[in-house]
Amino acid sequence: MKCPKCGEAFEAVVFNDIEVERCLGCKGLWFDMLEKEDLVKMEGSEVIDIGSDQVGRKYNKIQEYDCPVCESHMIPMVDKDQFHIHYECCPACFGTFFDAGEFRDLKDHTVAERFSRMLSALRSHL
Ligand SMILES: [Zn+2]
Ligand SMILES: [Zn+2]
Repeated sequence: MKCPKCGEAFEAVVFNDIEVERCLGCKGLWFDMLEKEDLVKMEGSEVIDIGSDQVGRKYNKIQEYDCPVCESHMIPMVDKDQFHIHYECCPACFGTFFDAGEFRDLKDHTVAERFSRMLSALRSHL
C-alpha cells in the first residue's frame, strides 16, 4: 500500500493490539474502519502521530484522491466536534486518512472534554 498523498510506503504501527498504517514520507495515518474510534478513546495513543503539524497542514490541502486500499474515491470530512480538522473517509471500506498532527489534535480535544465533563460531574456532587 502506498500513501495516496505523497506516494511513499506505509509502515505498520501497533498500539494496544490495534495496527494502523503510518506513511514513511508525510507521516499521515491510515485507519481501517473503526480503528480511529477505538484508538481515540485510549490513553496515550497520540504517540502514533509523530509527524509535524507543518507537514500535516501542507498535505491537508490534498483532498481529491483514491482510497489506497480499495481505490474508491475518498470523501472529504470535517470532524463533528472540531471543525478545523479535515480528514478523508472511504465510502466503500470506511478507512480514514489523517494528516500528521490531526490525530493528536483530535485527541487533545477529547481528553480536555472528558476532563471538563468530569469536573462538572464533580461539581454537581458538591
Ligand atoms: Zn504520505
Ligand atoms: Zn477504501
